[in-house]
Amino acid sequence: MTLLLLIGVFWLARTGARLTGAGAGESRGVVLIDSGHGGSDPGKIGIHQEKEKDINLQIANRLKKQLEKNGVQVYMTRETDTDLSDGTGGNSKVQDLKRRCELVRELQPDCVLSIHQNSYPEEAIHGAQVFYYEDSVEGKKLAEILQRHLVEGLDKTNHRQAKGNKTYYMLKKTEATLVIVECGFLSNDREASLLTDEKYQKKVAKAICSGTLEYLDSLTEKSKGSAES
Ligand SMILES: [Zn+2]
Repeated sequence: MTLLLLIGVFWLARTGARLTGAGAGESRGVVLIDSGHGGSDPGKIGIHQEKEKDINLQIANRLKKQLEKNGVQVYMTRETDTDLSDGTGGNSKVQDLKRRCELVRELQPDCVLSIHQNSYPEEAIHGAQVFYYEDSVEGKKLAEILQRHLVEGLDKTNHRQAKGNKTYYMLKKTEATLVIVECGFLSNDREASLLTDEKYQKKVAKAICSGTLEYLDSLTEKSKGSAES
């Protein structure tokens, strides 16, 4: 009887463990969304005085929702209009960027999506573009997938391509797969208006989400393949 009871308890414990394990294992991947700028740093100022930091956060929040709906575990570097410096003096911009990189190291996500808006002295320049660290194979892969989804989802006439970079702080200072998504140009009349529009922001978020899912699923396929071989 005692033995039966013990077996029962053991079975329950195992089932419980399996259930918990299954819950955690169901996540399609872990993503850190970095909403660029914030607080005292507005980022780029648009042609109609749009602030980049606000648009970044709005798109980041919409993207978070979309990814979570698709079973992705999402972290954010900021969820309100703040920067990440602690105000103890020194260069707050550097401190802000350092803190963002620390979060990447702490959380070890499958990838980091840093959301930004672009600007250029010539008004005609427009179109979304994704940047990756030039020496990162995974970064390039993710950036190219995202670029394709942004072109297909937003503007098929956008001929911009994913581009390597070695100077952006977060690209340089993080080991993780990190891309900078410049969703569009705030210096372009039409794009600046679109980027503040709720429907368009949802389209941007949807394109980034579907690209991210394609990338995350390719990682799962890869690990399955290596486990079998
Ligand atoms: Zn920016």
